[in-house]
Amino acid sequence: VMRESYASENDKGFKTLNPAMRPIVIVGGKGKMGRLFERMLTLSGYQVRLLDKEEWNQAASLVSDAGMVIISVPIHLTEQVIRQLPTLPDDCILVDLCSVKKAPLQAMMAAHNGPVLGLHPMFGPDSGSLAKQVVVWCDGRSPEAYQWFLQQIEVWGARLHSATAEEHDQNMAFIQALRHFATFAYGLHLSEENVDLKQLLALSSPIYRLELAMVGRLFAQDAQLYADIIMSSPNNIALIKRYYTRFGEALAQLERGDKASFIKSFAGVQTWFGDYAKTFMTESRSLLRSANDNRK
Ligand code: NAD
Repeated sequence: VMRESYASENDKGFKTLNPAMRPIVIVGGKGKMGRLFERMLTLSGYQVRLLDKEEWNQAASLVSDAGMVIISVPIHLTEQVIRQLPTLPDDCILVDLCSVKKAPLQAMMAAHNGPVLGLHPMFGPDSGSLAKQVVVWCDGRSPEAYQWFLQQIEVWGARLHSATAEEHDQNMAFIQALRHFATFAYGLHLSEENVDLKQLLALSSPIYRLELAMVGRLFAQDAQLYADIIMSSPNNIALIKRYYTRFGEALAQLERGDKASFIKSFAGVQTWFGDYAKTFMTESRSLLRSANDNRK
């Protein structure tokens, strides 16, 4: 019901929190995330211009009177595109939507003397809406200039969470790099083992189906995006390597047939998860119930 109410609000449009805002330019605006922001901003009464690859020769005139410039190009091009920007008006807000934050934020601070804001929408553009989604923000410069935009994002239904760029990137190493790589490796393994997916699904409980769906959905998405996310920092690779080492250590317990030490490790992790283990058990039970109800 919540989702429907947001969806119908989308059709009617959203309240304009900053009616005096000059045109907003989205660099990479013809991509997936750029289109989503174009739609949300347009529905909120702002004038939006798209600056994609074909429009670079008009870049200077497109940004000359811009009130805000939003960078939404592929991760591996982000810093380079920021450096290429023509001079922006002094009071123009420079924003990026990149999935990594430290390097793009530094590049924006170096390229522009006015207000700077780092954003990371923690969802894929296939969500179609920002309702109940999380958006992380990193302050760059002159936060008073962009409070209206953060509030506008809340009007769209999102929950905002502030972090430093360093905190963001450290946490994303777990939430994105390690998680997506483990998912990739699992998918790779299924394909190399050449399992019969149809048969796996026929034999599977709702929880396995859901887990398989979480793996499979990765491969419906952009390989370049995930390559960029996973390889965005040597810290990510180091973290994945430690995971690989632990995987090997746990496997060695199995090879030794050492159930006692497996059970001891298991208990250690159980203690570490603490109350979250029970919370997650309850939460996933209700998720599984609705997944099962929705299954066609
Ligand atoms: P995309 O590939 O769909 O879109 C990128 C757009 O940038 C394309 O239209 C492309 O033509 C354009 N572009 C490429 N080079 C350009 C240049 N030199 N000048 C102008 N435009 C150029 O990618 P996307 O998924 O929309 O991702 C854009 C940003 O959003 C990335 O920074 C990504 O980290 C971030 N993001 C994406 C997701 C996601 O799930 N897709 C989630 C969170 C954040």
